[in-house]
Amino acid sequence: MKNRFSQVPVLTYHKIDSRREWGLNTVLPRRFREQMEFLRQRGFRPLTFRELTSSELSEKPVIITFDDAYESVYQQAFPILQEYGFPAVIFVIVRYVGTWNTWDANLGGLRFRHVSANQIRELAQAGWEIGSHTLTHRALTYLPEKEVDREVRESRRQLQEITGQEVLTLAYPFGLQNAAVRERTRTAGYRWACQNLWGEYRPDNPFTIRRIPVYRTDSLAAFRRKLQPGLPHRVEMSKLRLISWWAHLTPLYQHLFQP
Ligand SMILES: [Zn+2]
Repeated sequence: MKNRFSQVPVLTYHKIDSRREWGLNTVLPRRFREQMEFLRQRGFRPLTFRELTSSELSEKPVIITFDDAYESVYQQAFPILQEYGFPAVIFVIVRYVGTWNTWDANLGGLRFRHVSANQIRELAQAGWEIGSHTLTHRALTYLPEKEVDREVRESRRQLQEITGQEVLTLAYPFGLQNAAVRERTRTAGYRWACQNLWGEYRPDNPFTIRRIPVYRTDSLAAFRRKLQPGLPHRVEMSKLRLISWWAHLTPLYQHLFQP
């Protein structure tokens, strides 16, 4: 299984919602449907991380992930994915299950609700992989090691209690990680961990999985480019990084205003 995950494009979504919001992370439900239809037409096979261990990797694999586990994912994306028979991976902030996103910088005045424990169970039963996005969505690289330990272990334990399934994958809040964070994550029992576009990346290290964000402004042509196996080429990568730099402001905001 060495290296095989580095050949699988991994997409990141946040909200699938028709409400207008500041920023690019909310994809319209109608756009999301177009993208799933595109995957079907082009013969892509969505799978989850835990399926990466099975011996045969299908042709044109792709992993669809949702960060922060907003209720809109359950309400809008789940029915569409069910129609297509596509599984996905949802990364849950365990302290915020069934509540509002008060952990996030609120620039547009809108609040968003997170999935409930029952909704998580329903997704798990439908074949979704439930992953951890820690307990509180604080940047792990800013925390003392003991706190990192608690964030990754306790979130895993509680999610396993909710779903009755082993939790094998984690998404680092804000994608931020370093060697110490990777080690704490590995020893907590995870097998894979996802970052975004910025951190140290090694194709043979399952704790530095790189993901490609899908934005509300993406055309189908842009979406197609994001599905190329391996890394996007250099120009594409710089473009994506440029767009996503502002996402780094949120951990800073948290660090300064919500100690
Ligand atoms: Zn997040």
